[in-house]
This record gives sequence, structure tokens and C-alpha cells, in this order.
Amino acid sequence: MHFNWLAFAVPLFLLFIGLEYLVAKRQKKNYFHFNNSVANLNIGVGERLLDSFTVGGFYFVYEYLHQHFALFDIQANVWGWVGLLIATDFVWYWYHRLAHEINVFWAVHVVHHQSDDFNYTVSARITVFQAVVRTGFWSILPVVGFPAEMITTMLLIHGLYPFFLHTRTIGKLGWLEYVLVTPSHHRVHHASNPQYLDKNYGDMFIIWDKLFGTFAEEEEEPTYGLTKPLDSHSFLWQHFHGLLELLMATQRATGWSAKWAVLFGRPDTVDPGIREELENRFLSANAVERSVAHNKSRRFRGYVIGQLAGTLLILFSFLLLDQYVPGYLQFLTALFILLTAINCGALLEQRQWVLYLEIGRVGVLWLALYAILGEPMLIVLGYIGALSFWAYFSLIQKRYFRLIYG
Ligand SMILES: [Zn+2]
Ligand SMILES: [Zn+2]
Repeated sequence: MHFNWLAFAVPLFLLFIGLEYLVAKRQKKNYFHFNNSVANLNIGVGERLLDSFTVGGFYFVYEYLHQHFALFDIQANVWGWVGLLIATDFVWYWYHRLAHEINVFWAVHVVHHQSDDFNYTVSARITVFQAVVRTGFWSILPVVGFPAEMITTMLLIHGLYPFFLHTRTIGKLGWLEYVLVTPSHHRVHHASNPQYLDKNYGDMFIIWDKLFGTFAEEEEEPTYGLTKPLDSHSFLWQHFHGLLELLMATQRATGWSAKWAVLFGRPDTVDPGIREELENRFLSANAVERSVAHNKSRRFRGYVIGQLAGTLLILFSFLLLDQYVPGYLQFLTALFILLTAINCGALLEQRQWVLYLEIGRVGVLWLALYAILGEPMLIVLGYIGALSFWAYFSLIQKRYFRLIYG
């Protein structure tokens, strides 16, 4: 049997998150908030899942560009690897800087900056959209002449490094602060204090920020999150509010050159009233405040943690055995995980329509069971179940909400 060992990144990350939680507790610091941590991990689950579908496509892009457009024939020797590490880090700096300075890139990178907490769970806050944008930037590497296998290996190492930057439990690191990007540097990057805005874009080496004038030292205690905090833990809203705001801003601009200027303009030029308008339309008022007050019950937390633990376990098995999972089951697994992520967000916001999602999830699970076992009796049972559910809907609804929301 051939396992995909990369799947072990999931339990390894969870182990580090657990360790950080214990260290923070020992330091008597409150670095983790329940709603935030769940939202962060949910986004990470979605990204890992969807990335497993896109990674082959990214590899193909690098391979194609290398075969057809490579300027130099770079070999996988010591110099090749050192060159690739520096080149990757340099491209990252510019990708990340432009992700903050250009609307169309910010609309997807914003997700990484929504958390008001700063801990290892924030490193999971990446989306597949961001992976697509990044691949665009990294496409320069095969054109320079780095082979696709080298690039994907490097991106793995380079992508692992920033995980360790997202923590408040590690102070400054002496002389390393002059060479590497450290947790202290990255705390500044995630802060919304005016003097810290648009600073420290580096991933591994801090030299680029110093060279291009975007470096700031951590002095004042950072305040984390967006300058205008996101008033939502909804999985969908977190993913799409940036894109929706940009779409609306572009629609409102008259003429092609004005629309172009919005897409490629700076984020601080977008009218902040647009976010408010969209929030009024799509979010229920003060959802976060209400949910913080409500979501303290042990039963509720247990239910949400159970969902998250379940999806993490399914994701881990899915990644580990990816070669053996047939296409239809991959689709159903992905659908189930995504529905659960949306479900968790809706639960955190105490939404009423969450019940319909629960029904959808049971439906997908039943379908998967039928697909695996091929037992026709399951269809009959499903039919009977659906009918009884329909008959007792209002009773079930009442029981469900009392059980979950109290
Ligand atoms: Zn950033
Ligand atoms: Zn970060």
C-alpha cells in the first residue's frame, strides 16, 4: 500500500497547536478564543482539501513552462537548491507585498488577516484562491529554469516555515532577528496598529523588507486583525466578502479604465461603505457579539468540536489514502467536509438555516454509504427516513435548536 506521508502534516500541526495552547496557559495568557480557533481551523481544512485537487494542476503548469520556456538549464545540485531557496523567497516577498497593495490580490489574501487572535491556528487561514494567485507568481521560477520537481519540493519546505511564525509564545530571537523572519516580525505583519500596517512581508529571510523599505521592528504590543474587524465567523462570508466588495466596487465604477483602476488599485481606495452595505444584506446584526455570549455552553462547544474533530479525521484519512479513493467518493467526501465547514460557521453564528445543512450532510453521508456498499436497502431506508423526517419536521426542529443553542 502506498501512503501519502504528507498527510501527517495534519496531526503534526494539531500537536503544535496543542503545545502552544498549553504553553500559553502556563504563561497565564489568553491567546486562544473558541470561535476564532474553530473558524481558523475550518478555513485550513477547506484549503488542505481543495489543494489536494489543485496541486496536480499547479505541477503541470510548472512542468509545461519549464519544458517550453526555460531560460537556463538549472540542475538539482547545491547551487541549484540555494538559488531556488533565495529565488522562492524573493518571489514570495513580491507576491505577498502585492497581495496587500493590489485589490484583486488582497480580495483573497484578506482571509489570512481576518483573525483577531494570533496563534498557530492562524497559519491555517489560507484559501485555495490564494494558492492559485501564488502559483501565478511562482510561474516565473520554471521560466528561469528551475525544474518542476525542485519547485514543488521547495514550496513544501518554504510553505512549512511560516506555520512557526504565527505565535505570541516566542519572544525575540537574538541574532536570528537580523537574518530570518521571526515570530516577532510576523506579529507586526498581522497587526493593525498604524505604524505596523503594510510591513514585514518576508517569509523566510527578513533581508527583502530591509532592502525594499518595508521593515518594522516590534515595539508596541500589536493589535491583531483587520483595521475594520470582520464581524462574522461564517465560513462563506470569510471566504467571499473580499471578492464581493471588489465586485461591487468594480460595478459602481463607470467606464473600463475606472473599473481597471479599482481592480488594480490600492485596497484603501475602496469605499468602506460597500462592506457595510454587504454586511447589512448578508449578515445578521451583531452575530459575533451574540455568539460569544451564547457559545459558552459545554454542550454547544462539544458539538462544534466534535464536528471539527470529525472533519480533521476524515481529511487526514482522505489525504493519506488519496490514491485509493475513487473519484465519486472523493467528490462526496469533499462535499461532506465543505458542508461541515459551512455548518460550523453557521452554528457559531447561531443561524436557523443550519438545520437544512445538517439534512444535506446526512444526505451526502447516506449517498456515500450507498456508493460504498451498493446495498439497495439503503435507498428504501433513506426514503422512509426522509418521509418521517418531513412528517415530524417541526418537532425535530424544536428539539434540535433546544439541544444545540439551548
Ligand atoms: Zn499578509
Ligand atoms: Zn501570517
